[in-house]
Amino acid sequence: MGKLDIRNLRKEFADENQSIIAVDDLNIDIEDGEFLIFVGPSGCGKSTTLRCIAGLESVTSGEIFLNGDSITNQPPTERDIAMVFQNYALYPHMSARKNIGFGLKMSTEMSKDEIAQRVEQVAEMMGISDLLDKKPGELSGGQQQRVALGRAIVREPEVFLMDEPLSNLDAKLRTTMRTELQNLQQDLGITTIYVTHDQTEAMTMGDRIAILDGGELQQLGTPLECYYEPNNRFVAGFIGSPSMNFFDVEYTNGTLVHDGFQQELSQETREELAGYEGPLTLGIRPESLEIVVDSEPGSIAASVSVTEPMGEITYVYVDIGNKRCTVTLDGEQVVETGTTLNLVIPEEKMHLFDAETGETIKSRNVSTATNVDINARA
Ligand code: ATP
Repeated sequence: MGKLDIRNLRKEFADENQSIIAVDDLNIDIEDGEFLIFVGPSGCGKSTTLRCIAGLESVTSGEIFLNGDSITNQPPTERDIAMVFQNYALYPHMSARKNIGFGLKMSTEMSKDEIAQRVEQVAEMMGISDLLDKKPGELSGGQQQRVALGRAIVREPEVFLMDEPLSNLDAKLRTTMRTELQNLQQDLGITTIYVTHDQTEAMTMGDRIAILDGGELQQLGTPLECYYEPNNRFVAGFIGSPSMNFFDVEYTNGTLVHDGFQQELSQETREELAGYEGPLTLGIRPESLEIVVDSEPGSIAASVSVTEPMGEITYVYVDIGNKRCTVTLDGEQVVETGTTLNLVIPEEKMHLFDAETGETIKSRNVSTATNVDINARA
């Protein structure tokens, strides 16, 4: 069992001159066996939250419960939690075998033979059996990370905390380790909180994502919920790569008016927008913009500034009025720099946000959006 409940967690760092609220009234329930990702920009409070859960940082207020019992004031060694860091934190003078077994030696009553056997089992699981007698300095970054993971796994904790564990690895190894970690987490079924600033890791690895900004929780949901139904403009812009395009528009008489285009809305959307006359933010994802062959009523003239062919897809950077935005095209569709595309914003894929608060007024629907996308690819 590893059910973790975070209640009204607040962490403030203060000295005589200033006070920083690193975590602000955070409430999250993490289910037993769940893989939860904390994601957000630098300084949003991800690592501090993780360190509070581990007991490496005291909390200013609030409580943390593990399986219903408060662990808020327990020392780290008494929490049944193992942490894996970005910098591996291996003891340089010890072999991989000793590094993996060290925690068991210090914190359990297990005999030498039992520890040796357990270390061998975990090393086999991690594919590092032949590296056990090497010291960290003789191992590659990926191998050191496997040893660090092995050291956490061998303890069979209730909860794993991982702070950007893959960020020191090269891009290819990161991708491999990402899937390995997912498989491992599923096989072990241990509740895991994984901190990253990489939204690809956030989208692909976890059951749910907690998106933080300025110490506050912006959204807690499945990757697809956060992608299709963002709570606000911040989440909409943070999740998804390349980012969603945003336009400052004026909503008047059922029409969205921008310097570069006007878009008349359906009766259904007008009803959703009742009471919102005035400035709004329109959001549309790069892959949701559609190209039409000829200029047609309502289509948007966009001049092509830069193209980035990635192979299967091409990112096209276009200017609409004086606004630069991104369009994702099928890699086989070739467009030339300097030409003009006629774009359409499909209303069902459009997001609208309150211009002042950034709160979502209209978003896509995750269930219909998924069906549309699957059919489109078939
Ligand atoms: P990154 O991705 O850059 O590691 P993060 O989201 O993990 O960022 P935190 O490290 O949790 O962010 O930091 C949150 C805020 O708290 C930041 O403003 C940071 O400067 C501040 N902070 C963190 N640790 C301390 C400390 N020990 N003393 C003072 N301020 C701190």
